[in-house]
Amino acid sequence: MVAPALGGQTIRVPLANGFDFPVGKPEGEGYYVFRGYYPGGHLGEDWNGAGGGDTDLGDPVYAAGGGVVVFSEDYLRGWGNVVIVRHAYLDESGRVALLDSLYGHLDSRTVRKYQLVQRGQQLGTIGTAHGRYAAHLHFEMRKNIAIGMARSAFDQGYSNYFSPRQFIGTRRTLRAGANVVVPVDTYSVPGGEPADDAPPKPGGLVDPANGKPAPPPARNGTAPEGPAKGKPSAPARTSAEREALLQKYIEENRRKVESMREDDLDGFWQRLKKKLN
Ligand SMILES: [Zn+2]
Repeated sequence: MVAPALGGQTIRVPLANGFDFPVGKPEGEGYYVFRGYYPGGHLGEDWNGAGGGDTDLGDPVYAAGGGVVVFSEDYLRGWGNVVIVRHAYLDESGRVALLDSLYGHLDSRTVRKYQLVQRGQQLGTIGTAHGRYAAHLHFEMRKNIAIGMARSAFDQGYSNYFSPRQFIGTRRTLRAGANVVVPVDTYSVPGGEPADDAPPKPGGLVDPANGKPAPPPARNGTAPEGPAKGKPSAPARTSAEREALLQKYIEENRRKVESMREDDLDGFWQRLKKKLN
């Protein structure tokens, strides 16, 4: 048993011996990805139970690999309960790499910050982010361990994120056996933005710093594109507006999309994104 690194900056963590899918362990049996990762848009995968709707509400969510819990909070703001696990593993070149896996919209959490968890250990249960969505797991895998809940402050492409299925699918078994020293408390940028599953609320996001409506977060270093005060909004859609339209379309077509095969879904998203741009 390793003592928690309270106030400290590191904790010793066993190398991950491989990764599994976070629901229906180890293969994700009984679940499917309703919405996949795409850079700059949806930064993780939405995992749904095969029964659709809320049939997966309360189902167990498992650690994709062994590691240490670095975040465990009810984050509200469209996220619900969130757990982030930090993993150390050997990459293709045999070097130690670090990875954060994020489990969002949870109904309940059963782990604490600084707790060591094993591959397949339950972290909590599938939820609805306080009734905001049909129950599902929002699951991210980040190469960058500084992101935390401040996703808009970082590039949202493959430099910082993995496609979870691709990552897990190619790392089911890894060489392990050693402990490594892993930094914790690496989230220095304040968060505050809602989950990307969330349709933006009318009047814009509330800036947690001053409680006033703030412009949408800048994406990839571009300036915020919020409408000027008292003027009609610009004809070009902001990424937040595209996301809202996308979400609306998903809600309207949920049954159709839920019955689609994964192969068809990718093409479906590409066509939809083109339409929304
Ligand atoms: Zn999602």
